[in-house]
Amino acid sequence: MKWGIIATWRMALEGVSQAAKELEQGVNAGDALEHAIRVVEDNPRYRSVGYGGLPNEHGIVELDAAFMDGDHFDIGAVAAIQDVKNPISAARKLSSNQFNRFLVGQGATAFAQKAGLERINMLTDEARTIWQKRLEEMKNSDLSPYDGHDTVGVVCLDLMESMTAGTSSSGLFMKKSGRVGDSPLSGSGFYVDSEIGGATATGLGEDLLKGCLCYEIVRLMGEGMTPQEAADRAVYRFHDKLVRKKGKAGAMSLICMNKHGEWGVATNVEFPFVVATEEEGPTVYIANKGAGHSTMIERATREQIEKCE
Ligand code: ASP
Repeated sequence: MKWGIIATWRMALEGVSQAAKELEQGVNAGDALEHAIRVVEDNPRYRSVGYGGLPNEHGIVELDAAFMDGDHFDIGAVAAIQDVKNPISAARKLSSNQFNRFLVGQGATAFAQKAGLERINMLTDEARTIWQKRLEEMKNSDLSPYDGHDTVGVVCLDLMESMTAGTSSSGLFMKKSGRVGDSPLSGSGFYVDSEIGGATATGLGEDLLKGCLCYEIVRLMGEGMTPQEAADRAVYRFHDKLVRKKGKAGAMSLICMNKHGEWGVATNVEFPFVVATEEEGPTVYIANKGAGHSTMIERATREQIEKCE
């Protein structure tokens, strides 16, 4: 029996390290995944997830998150939730409801409050300063207001052969109030089937949700592809299709793991990610698009790990 965990971006390293210890000791994939994501949400240093996440155009932090249990296909999700310290916990709690599993805005916030989840103002002084600076810059230039986003996405396999997937994100910096990305959307932001494997996405939500790439990667693994083959096939084909149809494709990075703990990744930008399995301790890798429909993956150096988020 094997365990494994894979997560987007270097920011997941501390959470993955904690979850890896738990998985090794037999903790279930639901708890390990929730703990891994909470560690990222709680760290104000990471400006695209949870506390310290960058706000929308009005200076309000609106967060998206989702949780999926691959044994029973239980899904819970929240979008544009405010002032809730751990959106992933709200999403996980919703996943055990019979109805009302995806809540948005005030309804999501009220649910979390009623469920007893901790509430805090998620806008840190640092994030407010960055927001005010961006407002000033935008007055004087035609700078893209949306530079600044990243989602923590995790796929987890436990010793009982159960798998989970989850995401948490503050979405695009300076987004419109009420804007929802791919992260809480099943099939686009995440998907997992314990009989096959799981995947999660990060990048430009407006493009990611056109491709349902997480579902597609799991489907391809189910057809017999390795995780790396499935990721390469789904992501680069879709990238090319977007370029054909629209002339360009937004950033997109996908991670996946199958039920044997084998993993894959594909991306059209430089993309750090974190893996821990029975065979390897928590490791940060950096992926880049290679020649044709392939991905180049290297272990990150210590300097790269210190530099990147
Ligand atoms: N996919 C997220 C969104 O569009 C942002 C990201 O992962 O970079 O909301």
